[in-house]
Amino acid sequence: MGTYNIAVVKGDGIGPEIVSSAIKVLEVVAQKYGHTFIFTEYLAGGCAIDACGVPLPEETVAGCKASDSVLLGAVGGPKWDSVPNHLRPEKALLGLRAALGLYTNLRPAKIYPALMEACTLRPDIVEKGFDLVIVRELTGGIYFGERGRRDGKYGPEAFDTEAYSEMEVERIARVAFETARKRRKNVVSIDKANVLETSRLWREVVERVAAEYPDVELAHMYVDNAAMQLVREPSRFDVAVTSNMFGDILSDEASQITGSIGLLPSASLGDSKCGMYEPIHGSAPDIAGTGKANPMATILSTAMMLRYSFDLAEEADCIENAVNQVLEDGYRTADIVGNSDVTPLTCDEMTEKIIGRL
Ligand code: NAD
Repeated sequence: MGTYNIAVVKGDGIGPEIVSSAIKVLEVVAQKYGHTFIFTEYLAGGCAIDACGVPLPEETVAGCKASDSVLLGAVGGPKWDSVPNHLRPEKALLGLRAALGLYTNLRPAKIYPALMEACTLRPDIVEKGFDLVIVRELTGGIYFGERGRRDGKYGPEAFDTEAYSEMEVERIARVAFETARKRRKNVVSIDKANVLETSRLWREVVERVAAEYPDVELAHMYVDNAAMQLVREPSRFDVAVTSNMFGDILSDEASQITGSIGLLPSASLGDSKCGMYEPIHGSAPDIAGTGKANPMATILSTAMMLRYSFDLAEEADCIENAVNQVLEDGYRTADIVGNSDVTPLTCDEMTEKIIGRL
């Protein structure tokens, strides 16, 4: 029985609706297992711009740093599309990742048997099922390298630079091997070592770390092949580890093939136990306030929080099983109703169904 301080950043659009659902679920889990979750709300994103003039107030950074973990909805929306670049709501996400030292993004993507018809892949591929995790490096590589404009050989040109230190590759590789140890003990490291020097260093370092994990199988794959294999044979992946930009693209591809953006959670982790947990989707301004939001991705993000930050595996299983069960029972929100004649549940109704199965 423990006490955990959770910083809550509801954000914009459907953020407040889906995070409120997740909190209700956590409160029931707390009761069932005798834990205490203390929730403290902070502003970030568009709502923080409206209230304080900046997307990430200092109070939010301090509060999140002092917490045991952060639960985030989503930020952004058309209302803030024209604000100056340094004030954009997304700056709140980058600022929080930097402040909390979150260099790993974990994105599981799996097919739920009850939702196979929503999957965009061929039925013979879907039937084999898949359950994979993309481990993406989050604070290095080309998104953070030197960039600029200059006069080039053919006139004005732009450049971005990819750089990775051995330290950055080593720590993300270690996360991948540790994650694989808790799963099916298989890591695929994805790079472009036939072309890029950073990828050659990446491969060397991953091999070195692999020597410490003889129980985990390692394979290397070029990113172009990986993009193809994800739609051809996703069942061959357990843990896939890759750089920031490759991970950005491949994790979106992996989530797309599940056919259900409203179902996929994510975790951003660093060296401390404090992580940031959020659904992979955005703030869905088109359905905000209509009750159509699917709360499952955010609820499953809290399961990741319990598992990775609080070491509460049984409680995490309880939430994941409840979501699975509700899907098996045939309940759907509008985004996953597909062509069936099932009447979709609202966000609140779906939350109650999940709570009923905890
Ligand atoms: P989005 O993920 O918000 O929405 C894409 C589509 O999926 C929409 O039709 C939406 O209604 C639907 N959808 C998303 N989540 C859903 C859910 N839980 N239940 C049911 N349907 C759901 O992507 P977008 O429209 O490109 O972006 C909207 C805003 O969100 C933008 O301002 C963008 O910058 C921001 N965004 C934020 C994050 C984040 O905070 N991590 C991530 C992506 C986008």
